[in-house]
Amino acid sequence: MPSVGDFYRCPEGHKAKIVWISEDKKVIAVKCPQRHFNKVVKVTDHERPALSSRRHHTKERKVYVRDLVFLIRI
Ligand SMILES: [Zn+2]
Repeated sequence: MPSVGDFYRCPEGHKAKIVWISEDKKVIAVKCPQRHFNKVVKVTDHERPALSSRRHHTKERKVYVRDLVFLIRI
């Protein structure tokens, strides 16, 4: 039976730590210190001046976050 403070694999396979367990022991929360892909955001591309177009040139940038907490049904 897992307990708070134990190591558990996050959904992406990293070594994460259990930070919370539900009272019925069916759901646990694990906090993973590794980077996880979060989302793609559009940012203004300053390398390409937008002279001929009214639209801003944008490029996509991937956002990663650390210390995500996952809820896992066990
Ligand atoms: Zn992870």
